[in-house]
Amino acid sequence: MQRLRATLDRIDHKGYGAYKELSGSHGFGSFTLFVDRVQRDPFAPPSLIRIRTKVNAFDRDLFVNPVRRIAFEDFLTRSVERGIRRAVRGNRGSGGSGRVEIQRASQVVLPRTSMVVGPEYVEARMAVGLPARGRSVDARAAKIMLLEELPEVVRRGLVSVPEGGVVVDQARRHVETVEDANHLRRLLPEMGLVAFVADGAVLPRESGASDSPLEDGAVPFRSPEEYGVEVDLPNGGVASGMGVPEGVTLVAGGGFHGKSTLLSALSWGVYDHVPGDGRELVVAREDTVKIRAEDGRSVSGVDISAMIGELPGGRTTEDFSTPNASGSTSQAANIAEALEVGTSLLLVDEDTSATNFMIRDERMRELVRREPISPFIDLVRPLYRSLGVSTVVVVGGVGDYLDVADRVVLLEDYAPSDATPRAREVTERFPPRAPLAPREVRPPRERAIEASSIDLRRGKRQSARGRGLHAIELGRERVDLSYLEQLAEPGQTEAVARIIEEWAADDEVRGIRNLLEKGLSSVSENGLDALGSFSGHPGEMSLPRAQELAAAVNRIRPLRASQKL
Ligand code: ADP
Ligand code: MG
Repeated sequence: MQRLRATLDRIDHKGYGAYKELSGSHGFGSFTLFVDRVQRDPFAPPSLIRIRTKVNAFDRDLFVNPVRRIAFEDFLTRSVERGIRRAVRGNRGSGGSGRVEIQRASQVVLPRTSMVVGPEYVEARMAVGLPARGRSVDARAAKIMLLEELPEVVRRGLVSVPEGGVVVDQARRHVETVEDANHLRRLLPEMGLVAFVADGAVLPRESGASDSPLEDGAVPFRSPEEYGVEVDLPNGGVASGMGVPEGVTLVAGGGFHGKSTLLSALSWGVYDHVPGDGRELVVAREDTVKIRAEDGRSVSGVDISAMIGELPGGRTTEDFSTPNASGSTSQAANIAEALEVGTSLLLVDEDTSATNFMIRDERMRELVRREPISPFIDLVRPLYRSLGVSTVVVVGGVGDYLDVADRVVLLEDYAPSDATPRAREVTERFPPRAPLAPREVRPPRERAIEASSIDLRRGKRQSARGRGLHAIELGRERVDLSYLEQLAEPGQTEAVARIIEEWAADDEVRGIRNLLEKGLSSVSENGLDALGSFSGHPGEMSLPRAQELAAAVNRIRPLRASQKL
């Protein structure tokens, strides 16, 4: 600390580059400050630091297994963020001067690079804007920031102290909540379920722009008796709620009665949520994929022949590529790609589907004879029968789906009921819908990916990085991920970019599953840190799922992929 103070005094008023002298480690008594990277000027991306405590005095119980450890790391990331908000003034001069930040966590709990809870220490990774007046060192502000504010952040957010530090009871609740959800999700297969929604869960969100729970007027979820399930949790006792069985489940109901909200909660059920989210005990199979139309996306070498037959000009669809997919072909490609990675549950919402992909009625069949699309309605049963892939489909307007559903959940004023018997009565009163020629659903073949088609060159440099939540940049190419509805936070996007970067160096042609496994197993062995490009602070990353990683690869426009594995 003395040396840091002396260095700062010495470089006061010098050019900003003098901050380079701070690089390295500084002892602070109860913790060590590592300055891993110093920004070039006050307007450049912030400097990267780590704070490592001398001991880990927390109860071992909080991090005794990987699920608990990840939950506890998540808790500490949030608690440091709160500490920063309380203890750091921020703006202390030009550019980002005085800023202190830690990776922003979304509503879900993920392995992240922001925090490491080890047996001997706890380490927080942060970014700081070293203070400047104009473009010269402002030592006075830097001393306040580094010698007063930072220790206060540590005291409030990173250690347990008698007064004002980490609230251990809250940490325990956080860890136990996550462990319960995780346990519940793992139980789903043996219970024959694809999803579970606890009684009392709050599904609606504050707004279309916020993932926080709706505070006013939210109707808590209550399972229809027919689907009631009880589960014993490791920490929270018995949870009761709606079990969604395998097979084809239709969610019906009038407009604005909560159908899409339920489906969206299921799609987020692949992740664990923080206490207070409302969806703590809403879980779905971890490989669940929400499927939507995405016209304009590129498709490389995907077999969509189960859904789309021969296209105009005699084009076959067994090895289908296009720079500009239509609503229906994009939705078909999204399904084929999800099956290729592996999924046990598809979620489909009418709101975000191509109508001609979902259904074709009798009149239109009469009029249009040359229709390559066999609609999803004819596919949901074979998907389950032949491949064991279940579907939850939200439909308000197409009664034909009643014929193919194993069960129908009706939402009225946000309250679900079992409408299966009534749906049976209704279908009997109408003549049965004649299915189109049944198409076979084969297990998906795996495509061969030519990693060398991923070009990372950007001028003289190579680059692969996340650009916020919804895009990655690979060399000069921008890959649009706006329609990946299960991407939770920018850290995942960043990690996706880094993993793809490692593949680009590979000049072998590999199957996509092989690539995914290679990427994700190296992360699970070496941790996310290993994706960082230099030693020390690895940058802000969170763990992505294989599904999103594959989806990103599949949206690289110049990608060369084919069925010729
Ligand atoms: P649908 O898909 O049936 O048309 P949505 O799921 O889009 O309906 O929901 C319509 C509105 O109702 C949204 O503003 C949503 O936030 C709200 N909402 C959904 N579920 C609930 C609930 N359980 N309690 C209160 N509001 C809800
Ligand atoms: Mg809707």
